[in-house]
Amino acid sequence: MLNAIEGIHHITSMARDAARTDAFHTKVLGLRRVKKTVNFDAPDVYHLYYANGSGQPGTVMTYFPFPNIIRGVRGAGEVSTTVFSVPEGSLGFWERHLADNGVTGIRRAEILGESRLYFDGVDGDGFALAEASGDAREPWTGAAVPAEHAIRGFRSATLLLRDSGGARELLALMGFRKTGSEGRRLRLERAGGNGADIVEIEADSAAAPARQGAGSVHHIAFAVADAAAQRSVREALVQEGFQITPVIDRDYFLSVYFRAPGGVLFEIATDEPGFARDEDLQHLGEALKLPRQHEHLRPYLERHLPAIGS
Ligand code: ZN
Repeated sequence: MLNAIEGIHHITSMARDAARTDAFHTKVLGLRRVKKTVNFDAPDVYHLYYANGSGQPGTVMTYFPFPNIIRGVRGAGEVSTTVFSVPEGSLGFWERHLADNGVTGIRRAEILGESRLYFDGVDGDGFALAEASGDAREPWTGAAVPAEHAIRGFRSATLLLRDSGGARELLALMGFRKTGSEGRRLRLERAGGNGADIVEIEADSAAAPARQGAGSVHHIAFAVADAAAQRSVREALVQEGFQITPVIDRDYFLSVYFRAPGGVLFEIATDEPGFARDEDLQHLGEALKLPRQHEHLRPYLERHLPAIGS
């Protein structure tokens, strides 16, 4: 059954500059780097993970920094905005904090009754902060952002699609129910999920297709507890006619991937085993961790991967 899906697990984007991306997420957004590893399929490229202190699913923003990639152009068929949850009354702090750090695209909006602060990431990534009450997730407090304003994790993700019908049906199958609408925007919510349990669909039949590049979301992953839950979700999706990959071991979770109607790449990832699998919780994200099959490349990678902050 697809009610095993708990909400968002992680969101993975592309970037151009590893060091700038790292500094932005740790120093400006105040997230913790919870893993420094490489892309399984292109081991000369980092895979960097930013999250709350424990790397809890639903808080995990990840990046592939490709040094020579061109900037993406926002459009239909992608996650257009990644929305982080902050406590009520925090947007004033964030507005000043982002401006003080030279962040562009800062603007306030009321969306479906929610106060948001939109802003651009390093490569024009579509980000927003939303005030949410009662988000009990523990923020990372080792950064420059005071705990009372710190990011709790994802609140939601917005999919920009030309036609919302197919994705809406899929998300309904995945346990997301409509809890609001405003103009061309729908809010779908997984009741009792992991806190990162809202997906919005913005339908725009005139939108040009997205051109993926730096600043684009590569895929959005949804969380299931374990391998058994993932198997049942995978089987149900196959029954529905989706072309879905076999289970792939990503070291910190197990993954399957498929293309959702409208073009967004979806992943289903397990909460197990998590980021403390190969390093102490106190030292997450400090050392370069390599997938076993790429361990022999360590001397080369340690020389050639760009330096990023400690
Ligand atoms: Zn992923």
